[in-house]
Amino acid sequence: MDIPGYSIDWDRVIHEAQDAKRIIIRLPPGFMRHAKQIITFIQHNSEATVVLSAEHCYGACDYPPDIFSLGDTTEKIFHFGEARMPSLSLPPSVIFFEAQSCHSDIEPLLDTATQYLSGSIIGITATTPFIQTVHTCSSYLKTKGYHPLIGTKGKRATYDGQILGCDLTAATTIQSTVHSYLHIGDGYFHPLGIALATNKPVIVLDPLLKEIKKQEITQLREHILRQRMSTVAQAHDADSFGIIICKKIGQNRMPLAQNLKRILEKKKKKVNLFLLDTITPAHLDYLDMDCFVSTACPRIAIDDQSLFKQPILTPLEVEILLGYKDWETYKFDQIL
Ligand code: SF4
Repeated sequence: MDIPGYSIDWDRVIHEAQDAKRIIIRLPPGFMRHAKQIITFIQHNSEATVVLSAEHCYGACDYPPDIFSLGDTTEKIFHFGEARMPSLSLPPSVIFFEAQSCHSDIEPLLDTATQYLSGSIIGITATTPFIQTVHTCSSYLKTKGYHPLIGTKGKRATYDGQILGCDLTAATTIQSTVHSYLHIGDGYFHPLGIALATNKPVIVLDPLLKEIKKQEITQLREHILRQRMSTVAQAHDADSFGIIICKKIGQNRMPLAQNLKRILEKKKKKVNLFLLDTITPAHLDYLDMDCFVSTACPRIAIDDQSLFKQPILTPLEVEILLGYKDWETYKFDQIL
């Protein structure tokens, strides 16, 4: 069994499948195109009936409570791609099979990356598929005279140095010591989070595209901050606020939502709380509010704002809007 570019412990998959009568498969969006292959593989290697959970699964947090209602003791849920989120109490029948990137020949890229690092003390971070490379990077940087640091993992992470869009602890625990960060991963969202949370330069080594992002993250940070200021400004005239609470177990922040309702109502705003599974423009249009506040995945307000016609604020932006905090204290929303 082969998923191009990734290694998964398929022997463990077969082993875990042996005592299951039914297996529900959860896949990240990038793995959906391999779904039929994975289903066939498990069916050929076990007696289990295999069911694909065909909705998008965006992270280890992404568990709608009703996914367990079908469950019995012979049912297992196989979650591919992600590492288990330690702070989330899921039943032992949920089994994670991490996917590690095979694009791990990063030494030539490391050589280029060092040309752009600021200072001598470098924080090293990575997303889950590249987490094994943080020690390679650390050893390499030491040979070049740097002092690399790998930050202690947060509650939602499995490994030291591991960054999630909602848990940047591995970067923030070392922010007072490091001069800049070297982040290993693809995409922009995670390094943007580090730059917003720490205000330090972030150089990205992307093993998939085989490229180094140098100034791009600093520029993106400035762009996103301007965009967030404009979103908060749009919310100034809003009278009605919808606070979004996500049903998914790892994104549900009900107490925070209730606190936001209280502080908005103190300022005479009309506030409703909305429980949602998937948050789409169609859902929000139907609810007809002037402004929304997302207590769900931080990505929704920051990454997806352009999809929505109403301003979507983060919890901290509500405090800025109401005058309890100022922009100098701006922090990236995290679920800690
Ligand atoms: S809350 Fe968002 S960023 Fe955090 S693990 Fe879930 S999908 Fe990823």
